[in-house]
Amino acid sequence: MNVTCKICSSESKYVFSATVLQKYDVKYFHCPECGFLQTEEPYWLDEAYSSAIRAEDTGLMKRNYLLAERVSVLIKFFFNKNNKFLDYAGGYGIFVRLMRDIGYNFYWNDPFAKNLLARGFEYNTKDDIELVTAFECFEHFVNPLEELDKIYKISDSILFSTRIFYGKPPKPDEWWYYSLNAGQHISLYSRQTLNYLADRFNLYLNTDNKSFHLFSKKKINNTYFNMLLKLSVMGLSKLTSLNVKSKTDSDFELLSNRKITG
Ligand SMILES: [Zn+2]
Repeated sequence: MNVTCKICSSESKYVFSATVLQKYDVKYFHCPECGFLQTEEPYWLDEAYSSAIRAEDTGLMKRNYLLAERVSVLIKFFFNKNNKFLDYAGGYGIFVRLMRDIGYNFYWNDPFAKNLLARGFEYNTKDDIELVTAFECFEHFVNPLEELDKIYKISDSILFSTRIFYGKPPKPDEWWYYSLNAGQHISLYSRQTLNYLADRFNLYLNTDNKSFHLFSKKKINNTYFNMLLKLSVMGLSKLTSLNVKSKTDSDFELLSNRKITG
């Protein structure tokens, strides 16, 4: 009872079954070659996505603030702050609005969500994108390789979040990240999988070794990368944003065609 690995096409081996959405007995397959863990074909997704944001997700805004601080610092040190950025699968547009408020030229796209907060800043495929951010989406991808290929065509710098495991996949009751009751986490990556993907796309990998990762053409010392992430939430993001002009007012002027006076 094995399937083809969605990342490397090797034979992925059945490892366990778990109860998803409190009723479906779902098989999980682990690839010994690239370390990727996938569920059987996810037939339950319509049900899993009946509400895009779950009521108990109290950490939603907190995560966005934290990400904004980290991304501000990484842009300052490694990217051209004057270029355009894309928040891929940007949901309701919270992160795009936050980054524009700080002063970075972020755009939104998401085929599955309604843009509530970043209207007027939809991504145009003609735009040159310095860096793509993709938070909380890799674990949702039905076809991760296809998705990564799409993202890579937009930019070869990809900053993303997904919780990783090391070695053998944890048992269903040993890792909250399976989120069995929500049923949306169907692609799970090990550290080995990230290395495999970086090699495949000929990119360098930087990672906090837990949940925050960068694929890029830039060779960045990983200790340095992690030091910046730590400092970002200790005030460094405020310093790096000092010479960046917030777009809150200029976006208002652009969208309303009115000048702010006084
Ligand atoms: Zn594989």
